[in-house]
Formats: sequence, C-alpha cells, structure tokens
Amino acid sequence: MKWTRDNRPRRIVVISTGGTIASRWNGSGYTADASGDDVMATAALPDNVLVEVRDLFNVNSSRMTTDRQLALLRAVHETLADPGVDGIVVTHGTDTLEESAFFLDLHHDDPRTVVLTGAQRPFGTGDGDGPGNLYDALQVAATVHGLGVLVVFDGLVHAARGTVKTKTLDADPFADPSGRRVGRLGFGQVDIEREPERPAALPLPAPGRPAPRVDIVTHHSDADPVLFEAAVSAGARGIVLVGTGAGNATPEIADAVARAVDQGVHVVLSTRVASGPVAEVYTGGGAVDLAAAGAVLAGTLRPGQARIALLSALLADIPSYERRTQLLRGLLDGPVRAEPALAVTH
Ligand code: ASP
Repeated sequence: MKWTRDNRPRRIVVISTGGTIASRWNGSGYTADASGDDVMATAALPDNVLVEVRDLFNVNSSRMTTDRQLALLRAVHETLADPGVDGIVVTHGTDTLEESAFFLDLHHDDPRTVVLTGAQRPFGTGDGDGPGNLYDALQVAATVHGLGVLVVFDGLVHAARGTVKTKTLDADPFADPSGRRVGRLGFGQVDIEREPERPAALPLPAPGRPAPRVDIVTHHSDADPVLFEAAVSAGARGIVLVGTGAGNATPEIADAVARAVDQGVHVVLSTRVASGPVAEVYTGGGAVDLAAAGAVLAGTLRPGQARIALLSALLADIPSYERRTQLLRGLLDGPVRAEPALAVTH
C-alpha cells in the first residue's frame, strides 16, 4: 500500500483548467468560466489538507492544445519544485482528460502524486458531481505516493496510462477497457489495489519550439488514402492510423504509410475497437502490411493516448528517426501485461 496516514497537514496545489466542473449556463449552453477559487469553494476539504489554487486557463477541454498541455506540464513541474508541496490536483474537462493525464505521466518523475479530476455535471448545481470528485482527488493527492499521475472520478482511482473516457454523460466515465483500475475510495479510505507500471520519465521538452503536428486518421469501410495523405501534406510529423479490428486497413493505405515513413513521418497503428491490443494478424492491408510499411503498433493504447505517446517522442528532441522510433516503442508498450484483456472491475 502506498499511502500515508499521519496528522501532518498536507499542502495540495489545485491547478484549475476549466471543463464541466467549472462550467455554467451561458444562455444557450454550458461553458467553462468559474474560477479555481469558485470551484474549490464548492468542495469540502479532507482532514489535514491545506489547499492553494492556481488558475492556469479556463476552457472546455475539447479546446485543449499542445501548447496548453505544455503550459500545464510546466506548471506541474514548477509547483513540484517547491519541496513544501505534498501533491497536485488538476481540474480538467473530461473530453480530453485522458490525453493531458498521459502527457503529464510520461514526463512525471516525482514520488508526489498528481491527480486529474473533473465533473460530468456542471458547476453550481445541487446535484453536481464536481465537489465529491474534488474531495476524493484531494484525499488521493494527499495520501498516495509513487504511483505517478492518476485519474480520480466517481470514487475510483485509475492510472493515467490506458484510461479513457468510455461514457459520454454518466457519472463514471473513465475506465481502462484493457486493464484494471488502480484503486477505490470510500468511508474516508483510499484503497490501492495495484501499482501502475510506467516507462522511465521523459525530460521536460525544451521551451520555445513550435509543437509538432500530430494527426489522427480513422479507417472505415470505403476509406481511401486521401485523408492520410492530406495529413502528410499538412506537415504532420506523426500520424496515428486508427485501423478497424486489430489494426487493419487496405493495401492502398499500407502503400501511403510506406511513402509517409520514407519521408520521415512516424506512423502509429491503433484501433477504433474499444478494448484489446492491435496485433499483426492480417495481410491484404492489415496490421502485418502496415507494420511492414513502418507503422508502430500502439499495443492497448487507444488513439488519443497513442497520439500523446507520438507527440512526446517527437518533443524529446532526438535527431535520428530510428532512435525516436525506439523511444516511441517504449512509450507505447509501457507495462508488459501478462493478460492484455483483463476485465474491468467496477
Ligand atoms: N466538454 C467538457 C470538457 O471536456 C466535458 C467535461 O468537462 O466533462 O470540458
């Protein structure tokens, strides 16, 4: 068990970035506009937790960008430079929470915990889930150590890696469809059930460089290579190809992948199926041919997190294509799972 229980007050910094937890009705829909202090004022504080709030930005997370994720990563590292800080909670929209959480986790090299949380119901409503999620997140940030970046939502604790939004509106939107949760909360306790396995942390990306373009292209019946090639023409340095099934497309798309790889574009192969790994099973434009064309298989990572692994490999400032590919394989493989298709337990 990696959690502590003593009476020393824990200093937790809450970094506010927007999302439904900070969203109010604006006359035609909900939009993020409540400040971090306003959001924090809705939640009870666990015993012995002292909170400081930092407003970083205030957006619905479908508007997340690489520049904002880099700003968040830097804010986390600056905050942890203070040895008096015991942990961090990031409030974030649920739409792209899995991407920011994984990005932070790939660069996290500190025993202190960073927790991402949010809400499925808006700010300031009597039935909102934000206050409870925030309370739980503070409790995890204050008591858990050495597990990296975590997602806390609806009484459950998830690893950043592998966790995705699986439900659009329900109160328990997050799960790892190919793995198990990390723990749960209840009755004032945090129960950790497993330790996430994580690759060695990446260094902070060098500041001041334009973020590389990394696109996602989804395969479907009747798809041709036009959108994939458009991504190459738009200057993508990396493309996640979201195959059907265990990672399949067509011979024409396999040819387009080979041409892109020849031009120095990194291609990762993921799947549009909800759970399970991609696997080299089929030819005829399937994963066997796509891998032969130079695509790297994403394991069990879903497309959004496969894109974050690719983005992080490109940001790592490695001059050689082969060495970037080697790093990318390590980021995608992450933990070696004995049973890749473990059932999710709720
Ligand atoms: N659209 C919202 C967002 O991601 C959803 C949420 O926060 O739950 O910002």
